[in-house]
Amino acid sequence: MLRRQDPLVVIGAGIVGLATARELQQRLPRQRVIVLERGSEPALGQTARNSGVVHAGIYYRPGSLKARLCVEGGRLLAAHCERLDLPFERCGKVIVARDERERPRLEELLRRARANGVRGVEIVDRQRLAAIEPHCVGVAALWSPMTAVTDFRAVAHSLADELRQLGGELRTRAQVEAIGRGPTGATGNSRLTVALANGERLTASFVVACAGADADRLAAAAGLAPQVRIVPFRGSYRTIKAPSSQLVRALIYPVPDPELPFLGAHLSRHVDGVVTLGPTALPWPLRGLPSGTGVSARRARVLKHLIHSARWPGTHRALWRYRRAGVRELSRWLWPRLLVADARSYVPALDPRDFAPGPSGIRAQAVARDGTLVDDFLVSEGPRMLHVLNAPSPAATSALALARLIADRVEARLR
Ligand SMILES: Cc1cc2nc3c(=O)[nH]c(=O)nc-3n(C[C@H](O)[C@H](O)[C@H](O)COP(=O)(O)OP(=O)(O)OC[C@H]3O[C@@H](n4cnc5c(N)ncnc54)[C@H](O)[C@@H]3O)c2cc1C
Repeated sequence: MLRRQDPLVVIGAGIVGLATARELQQRLPRQRVIVLERGSEPALGQTARNSGVVHAGIYYRPGSLKARLCVEGGRLLAAHCERLDLPFERCGKVIVARDERERPRLEELLRRARANGVRGVEIVDRQRLAAIEPHCVGVAALWSPMTAVTDFRAVAHSLADELRQLGGELRTRAQVEAIGRGPTGATGNSRLTVALANGERLTASFVVACAGADADRLAAAAGLAPQVRIVPFRGSYRTIKAPSSQLVRALIYPVPDPELPFLGAHLSRHVDGVVTLGPTALPWPLRGLPSGTGVSARRARVLKHLIHSARWPGTHRALWRYRRAGVRELSRWLWPRLLVADARSYVPALDPRDFAPGPSGIRAQAVARDGTLVDDFLVSEGPRMLHVLNAPSPAATSALALARLIADRVEARLR
């Protein structure tokens, strides 16, 4: 097939970048789509290090992108997993009110869930809760039968496979350093130049950046002035072995802190049968997890990231504004038994001796200049480019719907 010369470049092979690239390649078969990923394989970032929960759309402000794309994304994801025989279990989840003070928040969640079009949600009493999760105690719970679990990394790999089958390309070990204006094409259209860390330069007709924790830096490296910075939060899990693991049938969540966009450390049974408690949400100086690059290189990276975050007034304001939650998270990090004690407040039979350190992930959370944690997904546009600046949870659930939204905007810009 005859193709337009300059490729459309997607930066980042997480689930959002891959879903977007596949969607674009499907819609624009004459356009070559190339994904550039700095890692050695796709989906090693947040996509591989999360709870694996396909959210139903309960928590999100009605009318927000999160509310709409989570419900639509969950539906598309279920169909994708069924079509390709990928792991997907509709296990349902409970959000447990431990005392009467938490009940009004359950009711607010129910109102939101219904406004968002989530099917089957209801508030259940103590007895119904015991029938759903026999070892869980609380005065009431929100029961969401549509919530599911999957393996987002496997989903991301399937999207990479489909991209290739459609004629697209995925290049790993391709770290993008800068995006600049390129030469003007034969048709008079301006183009972009994408500079890689290895010195290579690519000319692109359009760039979509889905760089997770590096979203703000990449936007700045493209000459934009993003009005947010990414402040990383470390989300750590504890794994639970038998017999305590047998006390958790599916997904047990606490009532979330309404001040924060995080859902709270929860008990989850993953598709591989592993049961975890987490994640925590500790402000973290690094945008990735420590890797084997040597102590001095790691110190230099921490310093670079700290300076980048400290220069943003929103970082100080956020640390002050959310100081209570920050102290709580720091204490749980220093003394994990506090985290376990919290889980025992709704599953009392859990034995602290059955908990061990588990995996961790870095949540890429955008913070505004005034210190608020940006609640909704955020997509920003520049000349011949589009940057996904905030795609925290439930972006894995929403990825296929977010990809459609991005592709609509790219198509409109290419016309
Ligand atoms: C602990 C935790 C639990 C979560 N639980 C859930 C959940 O249960 N359900 C849910 O829906 N969501 C959950 N999330 C959120 C979800 O994982 C993310 O929203 C989603 O994975 C974001 O995908 P992404 O593609 O935007 O980012 P990522 O997966 O982080 O991918 C970004 C990619 O861009 C690459 N990249 C960055 N900079 C460059 C560059 N300069 N050049 C080339 N490549 C670059 C990175 O290497 C990376 O591969 C959770 C997240 C965390 C951390």
